[in-house]
Amino acid sequence: MNNFILAGGMVYTGDDAFTGSVIIEGEKIAAVVPGIPDESAYSPDRYQTIDCRGRMVMPGAIDEHVHFRDPGLTEKGDMATESRAAVAGGVTSFFDMPNTRPQTTTRSAWEAKMSRAAEVSAANYAFFPGATNSNASELLAMDTSRIPGIKVFMGSSTGDMLVDSNSTLSRLFSEFKGVIAVHAESESIIRANTESLRSRYGDEIPLGAHHLLRSRRACLEATAKAVELARHTGARLHVMHLTTADELALFSPGQVENKQITCETCPHYLVFTADSVEATGGLTKCNPAIKEEEDRRALLRAVRLGAIDVVATDHAPHLRSQKSGNALTATSGMPSVQFSLPVMLQLAAEGNFSYDTVVERMCTAPARLFGIEGRGFLRPGYWADVAVVAPCAPYEITDEMVVSRCGWTPYAGKRLEFKVEQTWVNGHCAWRDGRFDDSVHAARPLTFNNH
Ligand SMILES: [Zn+2]
Repeated sequence: MNNFILAGGMVYTGDDAFTGSVIIEGEKIAAVVPGIPDESAYSPDRYQTIDCRGRMVMPGAIDEHVHFRDPGLTEKGDMATESRAAVAGGVTSFFDMPNTRPQTTTRSAWEAKMSRAAEVSAANYAFFPGATNSNASELLAMDTSRIPGIKVFMGSSTGDMLVDSNSTLSRLFSEFKGVIAVHAESESIIRANTESLRSRYGDEIPLGAHHLLRSRRACLEATAKAVELARHTGARLHVMHLTTADELALFSPGQVENKQITCETCPHYLVFTADSVEATGGLTKCNPAIKEEEDRRALLRAVRLGAIDVVATDHAPHLRSQKSGNALTATSGMPSVQFSLPVMLQLAAEGNFSYDTVVERMCTAPARLFGIEGRGFLRPGYWADVAVVAPCAPYEITDEMVVSRCGWTPYAGKRLEFKVEQTWVNGHCAWRDGRFDDSVHAARPLTFNNH
């Protein structure tokens, strides 16, 4: 029996919220109805009822920014382990980034990732190809119904995909018809900051100075440059992981369908401040660096008002041993795909924004922004990607709960009052009460109609 009734929960469809039931038939949602339907409409011979009273029933989250490390960096995580971490966190679809080994900067490297995911991914998947100074022709020839967009590092990050040729940037921004997702930090400002911090500390720049090395000015300058180039060329720009109050002046609230320029932030910029980097021994060191309390407050407000369109994780697992050292030697990035949805719901429960806002930033907005077909909402005819979240007595996140291969989380010790109880991927209950069901290979490639 492949038909289910998720019955009597608080249903957040993405369009509306009410006490009701989600009817799943096979891989799709057949109906979303108020209350609990009676047996005359849905016979128990054909439909299995799952009691969801007291739960939140929402579209599976779509994480449009993860680093699953596969291929080439699989000691940190791979497509199987990290997609399972996603599913354990109510995340049913992900877009993976191109800074793997080899980098996803050719069509064949991209095809290889698609095949690997088809074999082992527990969640629905898509892969950003990455721009280099020399692969514009290859990227412009790709089938835009199978990619979310292209990723451009306008600054620097792990890997050497930095695009610093102005002619390449102009060509991509002028000619690519889909979403151009950028990592924006000014390499020249970071270099100058490094020199000045070195003159003070030598090679032992402390972890606590990471946000001065990768400074707010480095972010503002690169983001402003990307926005200006998009305005000039008409490109559809999406700035990833915003970290500063300063950059927010470049973005405004509104419906994502009507925007040419959109942006993302990540839960860790809404939870932590710069002091956490030293306090956690480098666990929260990431790029762009986590800034200060006033930035955190401004980002929370922008998530509430919609100047920030999407919340995604930048899930970037590293071995714990790779996280120790100083601002120059500790690796940057942290795992978070498993806890992003409950952490965001917690921030909502603490009064920062509504539950509807969490659903919009994590489920519906990514689907609308990238034009994902048939996902992001609980609507008849849509794929049955559903997260069922149970409010619960406060508990502490521990490293033992971590599904990611790296085995640690920056959120260890944080108290939550929400648990992801069930995760449905294309009508298959892949996660329930702390257990995976791998008996069905339910994940599918995402398709896009935004272009
Ligand atoms: Zn990233």
